[in-house]
Amino acid sequence: MTSTAPTSSAPLPGPELPRHVRVLVVGAGFGGLATAIRLQESGVRDFLVVERGDDVGGTWRDNTYPGAACDVPSQLYSYSFAPNPHWSRSFSPQPEIQRYIQRVAEDSGTLDRFRFRTNVEELVWDEAAHQWDVHTSAGDLTADVVVSAAGALSDPKDPDIPGFDSFEGEVFHSARWNHGYDLTGKRVAVIGTGASAIQIVPEIAPEVARLDVYQRTAPWVIPRHDRDYTGVEKAAFRSLPAVQKLYRTAIYWGREMYVPAFTRMPSLAWPAKQMALSNIRRGIKDPELRRKVTPDYRIGCKRILISNTWYPALDRDNVELVTDGIAELTPTGIVTKDGTARDVDAVIVATGFHTTDLPIAEHIRGRGGVTLSDHFAEHGMQAYKGTTVNGFPNLFFVVGPNTGLGHSSMVFMIESQTAYVVDAVRTMEECGAASVEPRAEVQRAFVEELQERMQRTVWNAGGCASWYLDSHGRNVTLWPRATFTFRRLLASFDADAYDLVPRDQVRVRPPRAEELEPQEVGA
Ligand code: NAP
Repeated sequence: MTSTAPTSSAPLPGPELPRHVRVLVVGAGFGGLATAIRLQESGVRDFLVVERGDDVGGTWRDNTYPGAACDVPSQLYSYSFAPNPHWSRSFSPQPEIQRYIQRVAEDSGTLDRFRFRTNVEELVWDEAAHQWDVHTSAGDLTADVVVSAAGALSDPKDPDIPGFDSFEGEVFHSARWNHGYDLTGKRVAVIGTGASAIQIVPEIAPEVARLDVYQRTAPWVIPRHDRDYTGVEKAAFRSLPAVQKLYRTAIYWGREMYVPAFTRMPSLAWPAKQMALSNIRRGIKDPELRRKVTPDYRIGCKRILISNTWYPALDRDNVELVTDGIAELTPTGIVTKDGTARDVDAVIVATGFHTTDLPIAEHIRGRGGVTLSDHFAEHGMQAYKGTTVNGFPNLFFVVGPNTGLGHSSMVFMIESQTAYVVDAVRTMEECGAASVEPRAEVQRAFVEELQERMQRTVWNAGGCASWYLDSHGRNVTLWPRATFTFRRLLASFDADAYDLVPRDQVRVRPPRAEELEPQEVGA
């Protein structure tokens, strides 16, 4: 097992948790921070953000592997309300993005309501009091509304390979990089050829003695048009905010033009396929290796990757691309299905994340005590507008089911969802609602229409397996329309799609003994 906890779970010393909050936000990545900022701006002061790690940043805090950088230009992969004129290049590296999130958090004035190293152990809906009982590693509290911004790429997934735990050398997941282990001169194996692996391999190949890259499915990889911003551009971003906004808008619409190629007309991706094929020819001389890296499914079916250095790295003398399939791990290395054993000092697991089972779901109990994971097991992972789930009142997801993107910025989706959540909290206040819950038939109709659209997408019909699809082949992760459509659908809280329970119909729960002050219990 490679570690799944991002940091120590011991609570940081700090103020105790309040007994009750109006809104509890789970997670302090891009989603949780945006929710906190938007709540504060809308006048909701009574909120708390709990985070199991010891800093803001989420996936950008955790993924510190060599070469980690974003595939979406940071002019777009950043908050609309917090432009950063200091980006050094078009595709920002991880440390720059992490510093950006930290700075936005500090400037927002919300950090006093964040509690780090506070792991949510259980969320239980109290049907009498119409609120959530929240159990955390730092204590218990109640919350009227819970916003789960725990992320879709937060829990690393180890490969299900026989003997995985028997390997006696160094082993770690790409999202839990062991910076204390020096790879210089070592024999190293990398399992996986996804977005993380193709950034790691070119970085470490020059320093290791030998590198075996285990590929199960070849990815489509197009060139990365990355460059430093010039001094003139940086000066313009600093002094003329409109210029930066123009860049952002141009990138947004440029990316949005790809949507039909993914959702309706895969033939539109022909130029991308040609770019990817010439990327292979440019990067690799050996015809056999060229054959091995050429995918046999439609471009776009899996995430399209971008790199200028992946193919040249595979073509190095000290790198071997192994495609025979892994049979097992042994104490000393990896044996492939053809019987070849390759001994290594370290195994780097770049096998992705738990994406189609939303790990926090098993810790959430809704109406009738049903866990969200059992609910998803029965109905598939689904939500109304990717945000709310029938049976789980007053629970909102930021980056929920079917809100992921392959072509553009998740921050755009996050901002759409936070606007919806904040409007829901405001509407509840205005209507005097104790709880809101999407009506089952409304959710069903939304999901059916979404899945109907999904049938035509390259993700479902492109002839590949991917982490977008669940075990039944349903795409439960991606949004199959334009992102501006998502923004429009979530522009305001549509109370008519929900069952609202008025506050005056709610029986007030008497306080439990442990919630009373000592004098109140006669001590
Ligand atoms: P991933 O895309 O899920 O890739 C996992 C890789 O591991 C795949 O090549 C997969 O092969 C392979 N694999 C999984 N289980 C295996 C097994 N048992 N044996 C052999 N190979 C196995 O994971 P990721 O690269 O960490 O990326 C996850 C997501 O994070 C990306 O899609 C992206 O959304 C995000 N990300 C973004 C960036 C960026 O912006 N630059 C960077 C990193 C990650 P198959 O293809 O055959 O399943």
